[in-house]
Amino acid sequence: MTIMFNNNATTSPGGARRSERVRFDDLDAGYPGRPVLHQISAVIPALAMTALVGPNGSGKSTLLGVLAGVIDATSGQLRYAEGSPPAFVPQRGAVGDTLPLTARQTVEMGRWGELGPWRRLPRRDRTVVDSAMERLGVADLSDRQLGELSGGQRQRVLIAQGLAQRSDLLLLDEPTTGLDPEARNRITALLADLVADGTTVVQATHDLEAARSADACLLLADGRLIRQGPPEEVLTATTLSRIWQPV
Ligand code: ADP
Repeated sequence: MTIMFNNNATTSPGGARRSERVRFDDLDAGYPGRPVLHQISAVIPALAMTALVGPNGSGKSTLLGVLAGVIDATSGQLRYAEGSPPAFVPQRGAVGDTLPLTARQTVEMGRWGELGPWRRLPRRDRTVVDSAMERLGVADLSDRQLGELSGGQRQRVLIAQGLAQRSDLLLLDEPTTGLDPEARNRITALLADLVADGTTVVQATHDLEAARSADACLLLADGRLIRQGPPEEVLTATTLSRIWQPV
C-alpha cells in the first residue's frame, strides 16, 4: 500500500474549491486470513463531518482503523492532505472499563503521542487536558475511575482524550451507540461545534439521525463502498431498504 501526505484540492460540481482531507483509492484491508474491505475509493472532505454508515459487519470500524493507521491496508493508496496525524476515539466497548484509570489519567493519555507514555505532563500539556475536559463537560469527573462512569460520561472522557491530541482530523467509532437521547444529542452537537471550529470529523455510526446531519456519508455494505455523497443522496429509502437489516 502507498501512503502519501500532500496538499490536495478538487473542484466540486458546483464549482467551489473544496479541499480533501483524505483520499483513498482501491483500498483493500482486513485481518490475517480475513479480507474485509474491497477496492474502496473515496474522499473525506476537509472541515466537514463525514459519517461512515452501513450494517453491522460492513467494515466501518475496519475503514476507520485504516484511516487511523492502526490497520494496514493490503493494497491501494491512502493520501492525507497536510495536517496533524489523526486522533482516534475507539468504540467505548473496546476500552476496558476495569482499567484502574481515572477520567483525567485517561484524557492525559491523549498527550502521550507527542510526549511519550507515563511522563508527568508539562504545564502546557496539562492546560490542553484541562480545556479538553472542560469542553466535554467532564472536568468535575477528573478523579473518578473510568469504570464507575455512566456510558455517556465515559464516552465524553474518551472524546476528550481524542481532543487532547489536538489533531485537525478526529476519527470516532460509534460515539453515540448505546447512549440515551440526551447524551447522544450532546455528543452530536459537540461534534458539530468541532467541525465549525476547523476540525475534520469522521464517525462510524449506526445512528441514522446523526448520519443525516453529516455533510457527507460513505455507505458500506459487505466491505464495499455502495455510495458516497451528501446524506440526502446516499441515505435514500430505496438504498437503505436494500442493504439495511433492521436490528
Ligand atoms: P462494522 O464496524 O461495520 O460493524 P467491522 O469493520 O467491525 O464492521 O467488521 C467487518 C468484518 O471484519 C466483520 O465480519 C468482522 O467479523 C471482521 N472483523 C472485525 N475485527 C476483526 C478482527 N480483529 N479479526 C478478524 N476479523 C475481524
